[in-house]
Amino acid sequence: MTTLLIKNAYIVTMDDHQREIPEGGLFIRRGLIEEVGPMSELPQTADEVLDLQGFVVLPGLVNTHHHFYQTLTRAIPAAQDANLFNWLKTLYPIWARMNPEDIFISTSTALAELALSGCTTAADHLYLFPNGSRLDDEIAAAQEIGLRIHASRGSMSLGESQGGLPPDSVVDSEESILKDSQRLIEKYHDAKLGAMVQIVLAPCSPFSVTTDLMKQSAKLAREYGVHLHTHLAETEDEEQFCLQKFGHRPVGYMQAVAWVGDDVWFAHAVWVNDEEIKVFARHNCGVAHCPTSNMRLASGIAPVKEYRAAGVNVGLGVDGSASNDGSHLLAEVRNAMLVARVKEGITGFSASPSPVRAERSDSEDEAGRGQGDGVRKLMTAREALYLGTRGGAAVLGRKDIGSLESGKCADFFAINLNRLEYAGAQHDPAAAVLFCQPVRVDYTVVGGKFIVKEGQLATADEQKLIEKHNKAAKRLLS
Ligand SMILES: [Zn+2]
Repeated sequence: MTTLLIKNAYIVTMDDHQREIPEGGLFIRRGLIEEVGPMSELPQTADEVLDLQGFVVLPGLVNTHHHFYQTLTRAIPAAQDANLFNWLKTLYPIWARMNPEDIFISTSTALAELALSGCTTAADHLYLFPNGSRLDDEIAAAQEIGLRIHASRGSMSLGESQGGLPPDSVVDSEESILKDSQRLIEKYHDAKLGAMVQIVLAPCSPFSVTTDLMKQSAKLAREYGVHLHTHLAETEDEEQFCLQKFGHRPVGYMQAVAWVGDDVWFAHAVWVNDEEIKVFARHNCGVAHCPTSNMRLASGIAPVKEYRAAGVNVGLGVDGSASNDGSHLLAEVRNAMLVARVKEGITGFSASPSPVRAERSDSEDEAGRGQGDGVRKLMTAREALYLGTRGGAAVLGRKDIGSLESGKCADFFAINLNRLEYAGAQHDPAAAVLFCQPVRVDYTVVGGKFIVKEGQLATADEQKLIEKHNKAAKRLLS
């Protein structure tokens, strides 16, 4: 198949003009969007034609933070009600039992879930390599499912005996970490337009990695032009840890180890002050906002509004499936919208309720929906969608994904609006997919290839995957 025509759909482009086209279509050639517009302006036929009358079509969602392997350890009783540090200490010994097949299966499960929720590009952070596991196992599974992947070669080098959080049994030597990182970059990293696999270097967090490894990883990444990623300022405990161990707050520590730049993005970044937001903006660092995980672990609410006002790129991440405990990216976009409103409520009421509540929208780009006199300026559905699409693409340093525009990758998803969940919301399809209950999508396409078709996974047998996954999970817990 060389060309694909998507016709008669409600197209949400997420382009610079926030264009939405009621009777629109996409004309795709060799995996790239050649034309997007009203049906009257598009070619009328192609090698394959899909009539999506009554569907909404959106740019593929971009997941900027995940730990696929954690799909094996969801809802573990001892970790259900713990905060981050206790949650980790409960789970490290279970994760230490994983093998290469577990990495493959859990990656397939996570990516299948992501695809069925509209995701087309996912960044993963794998930082444990027990029993011969390698990042290669994850990449092989991703290639089978067919989503674009930014596979982070994570690492942990600061064990308990050196004052770190993880047990010594799950940390590795700096030398072996750096050698493997270099091998992976040389074997897999593709910097070209339309890349399916990119490698990222990602020491796990300030409390599990030595200062030297942070510096060496940055040096190696910059030699090869790959991106850097880590957890930062997720909880208040981490702030105390960094002050005591390194004499810096988390962001100050990142500056001290040269971890600032447009090639760096941080997961969470909840506990930051105004000055630190300016540091991110000045250096073009990105943020992976993970609202569900932050709620689940009672970590706090990231200052997304402040980041955006300062010009910081913000994308969304479902985070690992042991702290979510799902990989439904459309639901994550919805939670980003909702939790931003909770934060507005809290800060508004505690500071100066009247003036804030009377604030009028100064934005024209949201078509005035929900805005007006006497209404607080809340995060809109379209702003949340921006975070989940273009925001994520910017955070990952991708110019070829994130919107439906000529020349970009043909990455999109489609949902049939004729369903119970959207009954009564047909007048605004883009808002319906977020204000109404998140659903399983009907089509997900990556580079013109169907990953989800008619609501079913097209690249894997879902039932077999569930069986294999449950068997692996059971073994880990026994
Ligand atoms: Zn994480």
